[in-house]
Amino acid sequence: MQNLWSPWRSHYIQSVASSTEADNDCFLCAAAELPSTPERDAELLVVARRKECFVIMNRFPYNAGHIMVAPNRHCGELRLLTDDEVTNLFRTVREAEDVLHRILKPHGINVGINLGSAAGAGVPGHLHVHLVPRWNGDVNFMPVLAEVKVISERLEETYVKLHAAFSSDNSR
Ligand SMILES: [Zn+2]
Repeated sequence: MQNLWSPWRSHYIQSVASSTEADNDCFLCAAAELPSTPERDAELLVVARRKECFVIMNRFPYNAGHIMVAPNRHCGELRLLTDDEVTNLFRTVREAEDVLHRILKPHGINVGINLGSAAGAGVPGHLHVHLVPRWNGDVNFMPVLAEVKVISERLEETYVKLHAAFSSDNSR
């Protein structure tokens, strides 16, 4: 599991300080910012927006279709989320699980949250739930997928599919 949870500690998100206040350097806060346009969402890799949270693809995925669900509000602890935020966040995780199954047909999905940098959080101040689709034997794929060039092509393709698969009802 050590390997599984480390690749998304990419250097560009690693220096973000832990805080419950909005952070200018927080890329999740930047992605959460509204209003947005379809073009901006595509650029940010935001595949869905919900009342209290949003779904974003990981630019440095562990595996194809690696997405994250994050609350709109900059908050680093589950215990500091409101009931509404928790409900909306986990409803969206459930929706994301369904979308991944329908679109990418994985054999399994890792769902996980790293709370705090000691636990491996790349953005400790803004919690996010990782969903990583898994296929039998996909471990052999990792060196290939780690190539940025390969990934960026796949990211776009996967973005279009996932974006279309999520309900466009942003008021949910
Ligand atoms: Zn943030």
